[in-house]
Amino acid sequence: MNKALVKTAVSHLDPQTRVTHFDEVQCPYTIDEAILEANRCLECKHQPCVAGCPVEIDIPGFIREIKKENFENAYQIIRKDSLLPAVCGRVCPQENQCEKYCVRAIKGESVAIGRLERFVADHHYAHGPEETHKPILDKDAKIAIVGSGPAGLSCADTLIQLGYPVTIFEALHQPGGVLIYGIPEFRLPNRVVEQEIDDLKARGAEIKLNTLIGKTIYLEDLFAQNYEAIFLGTGAGLPRFLNVPGEHLNGVYSANEFLTRVNLMSAYQKEADTPIYRGQIVSVVGGGNVAMDAARSALRLGAKEVHLIYRRSLTELPARLEEVHHAQEEGIIFNLLTNPLNILGDDKGFVKAIELIKMELSEKDASGRRRPIPKAGSEFILETDVVIVAVGTTPNPIISQTSPTLEITDYGCILTKNEAGLTTYPNVYAGGDAVTGSATVIEAMGAGKQAALEIDRVLNS
Ligand code: FAD
Ligand code: SF4
Repeated sequence: MNKALVKTAVSHLDPQTRVTHFDEVQCPYTIDEAILEANRCLECKHQPCVAGCPVEIDIPGFIREIKKENFENAYQIIRKDSLLPAVCGRVCPQENQCEKYCVRAIKGESVAIGRLERFVADHHYAHGPEETHKPILDKDAKIAIVGSGPAGLSCADTLIQLGYPVTIFEALHQPGGVLIYGIPEFRLPNRVVEQEIDDLKARGAEIKLNTLIGKTIYLEDLFAQNYEAIFLGTGAGLPRFLNVPGEHLNGVYSANEFLTRVNLMSAYQKEADTPIYRGQIVSVVGGGNVAMDAARSALRLGAKEVHLIYRRSLTELPARLEEVHHAQEEGIIFNLLTNPLNILGDDKGFVKAIELIKMELSEKDASGRRRPIPKAGSEFILETDVVIVAVGTTPNPIISQTSPTLEITDYGCILTKNEAGLTTYPNVYAGGDAVTGSATVIEAMGAGKQAALEIDRVLNS
């Protein structure tokens, strides 16, 4: 095939060996590969790729600098609009965003914008200047941000660039939200997240950890401490369950708990204190990125067999194609058109099997996907000793329950009155998964940035 029509290939660790550890699966571009790929960019005047990016990175601008081998300039161009290029270059679903609109994709494959972004960020952290540019925080108004996931971090970064002193309040003992506690090391190493957060701290962000807003400190307390606006980027960390018999058994985890034990508490390392129940046969229920991450983590923890149980077909699977492909390469067994009925336990209260039923697809439902219906008489038993439930999450109600003027939607998400995330509580804004339900890193970042710009506009009007 004509080389200009396809992306410059990137190497991956071999599937047989990579399942024995948690090292990153995808290798970075070399300098030569990055320049080769950058040269595929046509530097289109109308820049459709930029319109596809929720934080509007100057994509042709940074790619032009790669062509000229000015890698640090390329980083600085991205950094104006994004705090997290090393993260986004690894986990953004570019195929649905910038790369989807790339002109190259009309006849061939899009420019590999994500891989180039990762290359530039990694190059900066390895070779860039040690000194961080520190904006002057000369605005009088202090802003409070609740939650240190991509929404809160991006909001903080934009406000700091505008000169506001910012304090981030985070419930956990480490900042980063899902980037730290959810997405596994083999896709996004924690050190990558930490170095981008360190950059924000070096620019002046204050991060208060172990602080659960809505329990010990309320929104009104923050206003009493002279914060003039608050941004809520509290995510959607409350797991949904299957509501089938046996979900109380030992060996049943929500994907959130399982992944938090593995990623945040390092349960995969022998020296870690956090226990995790390592099954021989593990069943993961769900079909999104979270399910893929849980299944692939279970394999790396030593499971002999990992089954993915998904009630629709491969076509409807919501996970990124790349992740599905990696999971298949690693030997995850896909039980499609299958749904759990019952989790069976032994006499000591541990999981021993899961009862499943085959499904078939009927007409489309409200989500636009064909509705799965059970096939009568197709029940069967799968032996298993761990069940991980990855069927979605909703926002945690702690803040809304203790702030009656903060309205929520029927789905438990924080209600916003405009695109900038203004809530029903005066001077309180919200964005990211807390508003949309589980979505993407870059959408959460876009929401944080919009809210920051609006806070600045309102405070200056
Ligand atoms: P979060 O990242 O959830 O951060 C919210 C933060 O707020 C947390 O740190 C939480 O502890 C804190 N918090 C909550 N309540 C309080 C409170 N009351 N007081 C103080 N702090 C509080 N997206 C992608 O784009 N690509 C992927 O590959 C991808 N993979 C994923 C894999 C997994 C396992 C999961 C769970 C999600 C994945 N996502 C992915 C989705 C993406 O991570 C989220 O959309 C994104 O992190 C949302 O950002 P956020 O800032 O809104 O919330
Ligand atoms: Fe380059 Fe594609 Fe953007 Fe055009 S649309 S400027 S080819 S990345």
